[in-house]
Amino acid sequence: MTPLRINLEQEEIPTHWYNVVADMPNPPAPPLGPDGKPVPPEAMGAIFPDPILEQEMTAERWIPIPEEVRQIYAQWRPAPLVRALRLEQMLGTPAKIFFKYEGVSPAGSHKPNSAVPQAYYNKLAGTKKLTTETGAGQWGSSIAYAGQMFGLPVRVFMVNVSYQQKPFRRSMMQTWGAEVFASPTKLTNAGRAALAADPDCQGSLGLAISEAVEEAAADPNTCYTLGSVLNHVLLHQTVIGLEAKKQFDKIGLYPDVVFGPCGGGSSFGGIAFPFLADKAAGDPRARNLRCVAVEPTSCPTLTKGAYTYDYGDASGYTPIMKMYTLGHDFMPPGIHAGGLRYHGASPLLSQLFHEKLLEAVAVPQVGTFEAGVQFARAEGIIPAPESCHAIRATIDEALRCKATGEAKTLLFCLTGHGHFDMASYDKYFAGKLEDYDYPAEAIVESLKHLPKVG
Ligand SMILES: *Cc1c(COP(=O)(O)O)cnc(C)c1O
Repeated sequence: MTPLRINLEQEEIPTHWYNVVADMPNPPAPPLGPDGKPVPPEAMGAIFPDPILEQEMTAERWIPIPEEVRQIYAQWRPAPLVRALRLEQMLGTPAKIFFKYEGVSPAGSHKPNSAVPQAYYNKLAGTKKLTTETGAGQWGSSIAYAGQMFGLPVRVFMVNVSYQQKPFRRSMMQTWGAEVFASPTKLTNAGRAALAADPDCQGSLGLAISEAVEEAAADPNTCYTLGSVLNHVLLHQTVIGLEAKKQFDKIGLYPDVVFGPCGGGSSFGGIAFPFLADKAAGDPRARNLRCVAVEPTSCPTLTKGAYTYDYGDASGYTPIMKMYTLGHDFMPPGIHAGGLRYHGASPLLSQLFHEKLLEAVAVPQVGTFEAGVQFARAEGIIPAPESCHAIRATIDEALRCKATGEAKTLLFCLTGHGHFDMASYDKYFAGKLEDYDYPAEAIVESLKHLPKVG
């Protein structure tokens, strides 16, 4: 039998996270405050606990994973590495296709990899309540679950359009004990301002971030949590790539190309950075390794955005960060069903992309669902629409291999299952989805509102 699932034992859950900062050619560009000066850690103490801030700033290569966190990780980790043999056969490609399946977590995606340590460190630091935002509900459900594991109440601002369209993600959060509000709300200044400007405001991730940050900043016992973008989130997500490397070792293979969907960049950083570590260490297996972030053409942050300082949220409450961005007031088009709508990308990932250590590609919407359906019919698992972006790019690469006869080893991150996203699949089956390239003029317009630096 061809081995399909490469499993690890519970004891093989990584003991340390890998911090890519230790191996970056240049130190990361620091976040800046309103005065244009680097933000001191204390300034963010109003919304983050100290252990999280330390992880945000550290340049140590290896950060120990607390036993309490490994113990909760063991509810679903180590996550399987799976050979997509039937997909290979369906495509008729000589390439070997593997996926790291993160949909086995309680919330159904990779996000608990960071939600669990964030809840743990907050509990340790004496935080009494957590706030957060969520788009499609993946992060909100992950932090609701993680808060419950450590007995911390969680309040979630959920982007209004998703709140209406994804009622079951809301039910999940409530099952894990969280309070959920449709954003914009009347609870915060940011929400009230948005509703005053447009009473039917559908909300955006940036706006929901503003609301959650505002609440955390106003109460000393409340802290804010973010499910992507920040350095500590990418750090926590490296369990994905660290496990995948052990799994490849077991079968004596090494990937030629690593693909991952890219929204804020946490799962992509999580799978790619541990492989980049090999490259930095001069490992000959990694010499020609390519790591490719895959984004939608309707939110083309890395492929069409500017590399510059911008706010992390819509209202300009956060420090400004140097990153690829479409402008903080970017509004994704209504027809977009596939997630990955954030206007920016992780500063660490952005810098590595800028320095050409990572690649990026944008794929159109209809083809991503087509790839997701093909994958489901071959491998059984129904992928989250976000994950379908990576599947599209992997299939495209596998088809190139078919044309050239190259037997490359391809790895992609299957970041989650799509069981709560069937309405998007329905739209695809009904022919209601369109391809949409975010217009260059709209990007130029949005970039006019970038904060001025220096
Ligand atoms: C949130 C999410 C993503 C995108 O977020 P990243 O931080 O870029 O990883 C991708 N896939 C799934 C299933 C998600 O829930």
